[in-house]
Formats: sequence, structure tokens, C-alpha cells
Amino acid sequence: MAECDICGRTQEDTPKCTSCGRTFCDRCGDPVEEHCEFCLDDEEA
Ligand SMILES: [Zn+2]
Ligand SMILES: [Zn+2]
Repeated sequence: MAECDICGRTQEDTPKCTSCGRTFCDRCGDPVEEHCEFCLDDEEA
């Protein structure tokens, strides 16, 4: 079990973002893209 850095929700398997190193659940990012919401926000800014 690991905790999502974005929403704090615990999930059995949390992918780790290869860009910023944060962990996120499947609601906060795409494990295939390996981009969490933090990265997506950065790209749009
Ligand atoms: Zn989350
Ligand atoms: Zn990220």
C-alpha cells in the first residue's frame, strides 16, 4: 500500500512519476504516460 501524493488516497499499487518522482493513484495520473497531475499542470503553465 502506498499513498498518493496528490489526493492522499491509499492504493495498493501507486505508480511513481518518472519526471517529478511523486507517487500518484490511477485517478490523479496516467501510469502509461507516467505523468502525474503536477507534471500536467507544469506543462500547461
Ligand atoms: Zn490520487
Ligand atoms: Zn510528475
